[in-house]
Amino acid sequence: MLIQLRDIVEQVSKVDDVRQALDILVKDTCKAMQTECCTVYLSNNEKNRLELMATQGLKFSGQTIHIPFEEGLVGLVRRSAEPINLANAQHHPNFKYFPELGENIYQSFLGTPIIHRRQVLGVLVIQQRSSRLFSEVEESFLVTLAAQLAVIIAHTQAQGQWQLNNTKVRSFKGIPASTGIAIGTMWWDDTHPDLSQVSPASCLNVDKEQEWLALAIESAIADFRRMRKRFDTELNKDTLAIFELFIHLLHDPLLRADLNAQIEKGDRADWALRQVVEIYSERFAKMSDAYLRERANDIKELGQRLLYFLHNSEVRDPSFKQPVILVVRELTASILAAIPKEKLLAVVSLEGAANSHAAILSRALGVPAIMGAKIKPEAVMGKLGIVDGYSGDIFIEPAAQLLNEYRALSNEEEELSELIAQELAQPAFTQDGQRVELMLNAGLSADTNIAINQGVDGVGLYRTEISFLLQHRFPSEEEQTQQYRTILSSYPDKRVVMRTLDIGGDKALPYFPIEEDNPFLGWRGIRFTLDHPDIFLIQLRAMLKASTGLGNLNIMLPMISGCQEIDEALLLIERAYLEVSEVDKEIQRPQIGIMLEVPSMLYLLPLVAHKVDFVSVGTNDLTQYLLAVDRNNSRVSDVYEHVHPSVVMALKHIYETCEQYNLPVCICGELAGDPIGALLLIGLGYRSLSMNTSNVARVKYILRKSDSQELEQLVEQAIKQPYGSEIHCMMLNYLEQRGLAGFIRAGKK
Ligand code: PEP
Ligand code: MG
Repeated sequence: MLIQLRDIVEQVSKVDDVRQALDILVKDTCKAMQTECCTVYLSNNEKNRLELMATQGLKFSGQTIHIPFEEGLVGLVRRSAEPINLANAQHHPNFKYFPELGENIYQSFLGTPIIHRRQVLGVLVIQQRSSRLFSEVEESFLVTLAAQLAVIIAHTQAQGQWQLNNTKVRSFKGIPASTGIAIGTMWWDDTHPDLSQVSPASCLNVDKEQEWLALAIESAIADFRRMRKRFDTELNKDTLAIFELFIHLLHDPLLRADLNAQIEKGDRADWALRQVVEIYSERFAKMSDAYLRERANDIKELGQRLLYFLHNSEVRDPSFKQPVILVVRELTASILAAIPKEKLLAVVSLEGAANSHAAILSRALGVPAIMGAKIKPEAVMGKLGIVDGYSGDIFIEPAAQLLNEYRALSNEEEELSELIAQELAQPAFTQDGQRVELMLNAGLSADTNIAINQGVDGVGLYRTEISFLLQHRFPSEEEQTQQYRTILSSYPDKRVVMRTLDIGGDKALPYFPIEEDNPFLGWRGIRFTLDHPDIFLIQLRAMLKASTGLGNLNIMLPMISGCQEIDEALLLIERAYLEVSEVDKEIQRPQIGIMLEVPSMLYLLPLVAHKVDFVSVGTNDLTQYLLAVDRNNSRVSDVYEHVHPSVVMALKHIYETCEQYNLPVCICGELAGDPIGALLLIGLGYRSLSMNTSNVARVKYILRKSDSQELEQLVEQAIKQPYGSEIHCMMLNYLEQRGLAGFIRAGKK
């Protein structure tokens, strides 16, 4: 039966068309269950009814047949969300005869709900003329089939397909990658050559072909340099790194040699390019680390860009005159760079994820972006659309009411941005005069933009992983020194907290793969660096050397779970300090802190207070480990509650213990940059918050409009609530009372 089950699911998943797929399902199920009738109904929640989508055995020829939720056995299966197995269905009190279905010939009935993530998406039913009580094994078979079908249905529905009643689909969902709202014309331009469409072609003259390629490479390098220059003043170093990465790759002798070797085999330059790019990107795509997997897209982007130069068709001047919502197959940094910002209302990319460089760039540019949107671009071209970069919703030809709502939200958003920008340079004081230290999280993404640097009190978390992830080997001491020096000297009078290497978990190095069943519980952060004092000491020396004459360096240790790790790390830091200070007397001893992100440390705070100078709470990991929920797994994302009562209680405990032991404490997880989270933290007593660039201005604005004493009283009540949703709601009410609710999310829910 397992094989039959697998076969059915495989057949169904292969087909794009909903009716066709379900037709296959009902036929194959009848065969597998040796019965005469199988029917699939899907729930139409707007109309409170189940709609017959496919059947083998009932009267149905494509017209709409529906059963109200509260009627019949099918309705009962949906309501009870449990299978119903009857040898003689007509005797059941809920049996209802629907003449249009011709059901009267069937006696036995087995119906099972199609459930996905607690939602009943529909009902799967098998029926038979003779009286037959389906066996337990048969019942389990149908339940298993329905569970698998649910995944397929949920997935396709999320893509905007499989909508009921054949209504014209007008709303789609993608991954929100850059916040903001845009209303305007959707623009799809597919006139450019697509690398994946290049077909096999051989060359006549190898030398000429190689020369052609070399010229294209040179033009591409010059173009990337131009783009880099164009953004030099606008973007921070991390974001510009993509152009440097491209230039670096184009100079890579290995890539050039592979391309030339492919041409020598007799392939035309563009065909050689496609093959080599595919090999490289597949190599990246197979890597277990999400960040590196996305580098596969960078390689493809590079190849695509080279193809433009090979074909002389690079995008320079877009053909649209008015600003548009640009729809692209795959958003690339080059596309964003090639189009003037004032012509881009938003971007919608059919492929890609929220952590791609292009997504990072769109955030840095402030262009709303949605990635992985499953829309048919030809069908939306030229139509009016709404892009909600907060929720990932895209609406095509929206109804007047929706359009008005979004216009109002968009105006509100604009007003809010102007408002918060005006106050960015002001110090962060609450209404009752409490000073809050606002720090920046920098390092992994586009968050060291110059304008914001003026509005913050320093860097609360500098993630050092990026330079390790982007290389082919561990970066040298000199390379690291230079990099850290750039950051430290950007904040000469402010504190900069540099975190030592936090690899492992979802951040594996390509040149140092770590294979583990449970990487988040494995060789991560300080566990790795203590096992590799060679690598650790290089990094520590580089940080210390970089701080000479500045004296603003703070070193922070990630993933600390016990005192021994701290003691061992302190010894190594001291050793590194003695080594470098022997050569350079100006180097000062840095302040040393630990990340508080492993729950064990909650109980050890009294024992570590005299060992370190500060702690910084990593709420991202603390929540993950406290609730035992993978922070990267979308299936359990609803379990990952930022203001879960136990998280809030842990934060209260941490604050109070730190107070007792006079230990400075900061929050550097995402919670600090969230308006609700920030207010909650102030109410708990915290006065130091570190967050991404995009959140600094609004959190500062909100804090300046809040009262810390009121927040303390509110949090005292909130912490008694057993549900995170109630805590969230109480904080939201506070924002509403203060007229600040617009900051939660400008888009529609
Ligand atoms: C955290 O865990 O909250 C944190 C700030 O560190 P990271 O997100 O880099 O793990
Ligand atoms: Mg962490």
